[in-house]
This record gives sequence, structure tokens and C-alpha cells, in this order.
Amino acid sequence: MRIDVFTIFPAIVDGFSDHSLLGRARETGLVDLRCHDIRDHTTDVHRTVDDAPFGGGAGMLMRPEPIFAAVEAAAPPRPLILLGPGGRRFDQSMARALAESDGFSLLCGRYEGVDHRVREHLVDHEVSIGDVVLAGGEIAACLVIEAVTRLVPGVMGNDDSPVTESFGATALLEEPQWTRPAEYRGWEVPEVLRSGDHARIARWRMAQALLRTLEVRPDLIEARGGLTEQERTLLEGVAPVSYPFPFAP
Ligand code: SAH
Repeated sequence: MRIDVFTIFPAIVDGFSDHSLLGRARETGLVDLRCHDIRDHTTDVHRTVDDAPFGGGAGMLMRPEPIFAAVEAAAPPRPLILLGPGGRRFDQSMARALAESDGFSLLCGRYEGVDHRVREHLVDHEVSIGDVVLAGGEIAACLVIEAVTRLVPGVMGNDDSPVTESFGATALLEEPQWTRPAEYRGWEVPEVLRSGDHARIARWRMAQALLRTLEVRPDLIEARGGLTEQERTLLEGVAPVSYPFPFAP
């Protein structure tokens, strides 16, 4: 898979991507990640990439010429996706779709964003990583790259993991999990998980995933058409485990 990134801070994305599973995938050639410095495509001595907005207002905007020049010189894989708070919200289904492709490209904004002609005439899509405002698109790009590349076959150690995890095949949040020791500071791992009864364990895990999703993300349950009869039965008599207190500003 080839991923091209256009940014004025290529070192942020390069440095991030050089570690762990993604770092290894780059080394083995499974992921061909190319970070392009937009500033290399300026023509003035000051290597200017920004200017004041027409009509006035706070802050600076990225000028179109170096962005168009950088993209046209690289002939990057499409779609070319602009990272921006005004885009469609990134989610696991987008990550899956991109992971099935041969490649895509990302454009990172800085300052107050990019000249609108970039959005109209250069990029294919605009994607936001959530309802927050970052200072630049680089961290958003890293987030997209990580979410997508870990789904590329061979990048993760265990190719089964994307099926059982949150937003996976079941469209639920993942159930809680424990590892050794079986008792730590008096807190014990639920008995059912140590029972060796695989059918019972599977039912309990499914019930916990449902309970947690109902609690914090009822919208996910609604999106799959509510609970089935079978799921309702599964929940009978199952006690929910405790979780961190919800953050509510
Ligand atoms: N003035 C803009 C915000 C610009 S933030 C506005 O009010 O909408 C500067 C850059 O950071 C953007 O061009 C974009 O590339 C990146 N960025 C900020 N928030 C982001 C988000 N939620 N998702 C993706 N990229 C974001």
C-alpha cells in the first residue's frame, strides 16, 4: 500500500511512522509511506507557504501554488484526502475501506487552513478526526495512517484482531479483558473467564460487550436495529462489570 502525505512538517509524520508495527511494515515494504514537504515547492527566497485571507480576518491561510505543485510533482495515489475539521468524520468503516485500497494520500493544513481552491480543485475528500480543532493536520494524518495500516493484512501480528475488537464485525465496543495475575491487590479476574467453559465464556463476553455498548454508545445499538431476541435473553441475569467514571465536562 502506498500512502503519500503533504505537509510543511514531514518529520512529524515520518517520525511517528517509524515505530512499532507501522515502522516494521515500512521496513518490509508492506507500507510505502512518502512524506512530501510542501515548502520544497515554493519559489520565493523565504519559502513562503502562507498569506493573509482576502476579506480580512484573523490568521493566515496556506497559499494554493506550493500545494498544487507538491501534489502534481508526486503524482500521488488517489483519493487525496484533506484533513480538516469541516470534513466528514473519520471512523472505522472509512479505515476499512481505505485498508482495502492500493493507496491514498493525505494533505495536512496549518494556520487557519488552506485556500479554498485546494478543496475545490485538488482534493477528492475532506475528513475530520472529530469535533476538535488541532493546530495542524499532521496528528490527524498519523491517526488515519495508524487506523488504516493496522488493518492491512500482514501489518498486525494477529490478523483476527480486527474482527473481535471495538467497531469490528459485531459493531459493538469490545468486552473487558484481563490478563495475569488472576488476583492483584485483592481484585480478582471474573470466575467465568477462568472456568475453561468456552461456550459460557463466549456468552458472557458477548453480554458484556452489549452491556457496555448500551451504557456508553446506545447509538451503536440503534444503528444495528436494536437488540435481537437472542441478545435480550443473553443479558438476563448478567451483572455488568465496573468501568472508569464517565468524563463529563
Ligand atoms: N480555521 C479552521 C481550523 C484550522 S486548524 C476552522 O475553523 O475550521 C489548522 C489545520 O489543522 C487544518 O487545516 C487541518 O488540516 C488541521 N485540523 C484541525 N482540526 C482538525 C480535525 N478535527 N480533523 C482533521 N484535521 C484537523
